[in-house]
Amino acid sequence: MIYRLLSAAILVGCLVAPATAQEDSITVRRIFQECLKNNTAYDNLRVLCKQVGHRLSGSEGSKKAVIWGEAALKAAGADSVWLQPVKVPHWERGKPESVTMKVSGQSRKLKALALGGSVATPSSGIEAEVVMVKSKEELEQLGRKKVEGKIVFFNHPFDDTHLRTFESYGSCVWQRVDGAIQAARFGAVGCVIRSLTHIRDDNPHTGVMQYVDSLPKVPGLALGYLSANALEEALAKGQQVKLQLKTHCRTLPDADSYNVIGELHANRPNAPWLVVGGHLDSWDVGEGAHDDGAGVVQSIEVLRLMKKLGLAQRFNIRCILFMNEENGAKGARKYAEEAERKNEPHAFGLESDAGGFTPRGFTFEKLPESIAGMDRIRYLLAPYGLHDLSKGGSGVDVGFLRKPFPMAVLSGYRPDSQRYFDVHHAHTDVFETVHPRELALGAASMASLMYLMSIHLP
Ligand SMILES: [Zn+2]
Repeated sequence: MIYRLLSAAILVGCLVAPATAQEDSITVRRIFQECLKNNTAYDNLRVLCKQVGHRLSGSEGSKKAVIWGEAALKAAGADSVWLQPVKVPHWERGKPESVTMKVSGQSRKLKALALGGSVATPSSGIEAEVVMVKSKEELEQLGRKKVEGKIVFFNHPFDDTHLRTFESYGSCVWQRVDGAIQAARFGAVGCVIRSLTHIRDDNPHTGVMQYVDSLPKVPGLALGYLSANALEEALAKGQQVKLQLKTHCRTLPDADSYNVIGELHANRPNAPWLVVGGHLDSWDVGEGAHDDGAGVVQSIEVLRLMKKLGLAQRFNIRCILFMNEENGAKGARKYAEEAERKNEPHAFGLESDAGGFTPRGFTFEKLPESIAGMDRIRYLLAPYGLHDLSKGGSGVDVGFLRKPFPMAVLSGYRPDSQRYFDVHHAHTDVFETVHPRELALGAASMASLMYLMSIHLP
């Protein structure tokens, strides 16, 4: 009976006057209760990780993931599901890479992964002396004379004093993205980087790297944290240290792929869109469980909750499983271009791409205080541990909506970040590292924000 009265109140509220704080509070509680009791996120993640597996753009895994995503959105109750075609880069690691450290006649294998996009070495490998730098400035100071013909070791570790690990990542990621370009500028023949992580294990962490056509393309690899320590220690003794690098990567022609999109339709004509999403592709190691299987299954769960609880009323809702976030963001570019071309107004975008850990809050590209109803939203989300509503980035994928829809509110889901870079882009990013409660709480948090935005946005 209460349920019926409440539904009526929400419906009347939507059509006549905004819902009261008490109605909103009851709805948020219903979202959490339904999600914690019946959520599909964890079971979906198991299938995505164990039956589809890793799914780099252009791979067989990515094709399976598209088929899986379409079925999962239909099962979640979407009013319509469609595939948006997009051409994506297609890079393959090939046979496992190897890095051998040679000091004083002794050889030692180091744990390493080729970076995404790296070229192959000749089949016999590349062997050269190593120079270590912690910054671009140090590399400039060494100059061509001391770098030419050598392998550059970029060794700028995470800064442990940052509270949020994404800040550490942000200040170190240049080594991975730009390292091979910087090394080639001074005539180096290859580069290795310290993996971008806090965890003191030896699992290397891959990720995208870039080249420019004006410079030679030299191979790039990431070393495990302990392997990077071993290399650093050997160099600190002032002895000559050589590395032998072997990579077997190749870049194939761009491949056909898709964004997978599920929709719920509003009960008023010409309603703007609220979108929620994560990225369907992953790196080619591990299972892409936290990055970004978690965001994908949470976004699907948001759609399921909104359908089941009848929360898509004033706005159209889209759940978007973006293709190719990891090495090109071609899916997100395509989605934003098409939305602009078709003149589909977008009022809100929410992305989950920071792992499936315990919810802490959301960041907003605009000052939260400037967003309609934010005082009430803060008050309603606080009991669920969502205290961190602050200014910050939304995400790589929904960020592409910024330009065509400057009035849209863009937000990123922010779970606890302390363990994310333990598994990020590594063999260890597997289903078993995701906790069912944390994952579900995140989905409920996201659905609550979607609902509250649907009530408060003009
Ligand atoms: Zn990601």
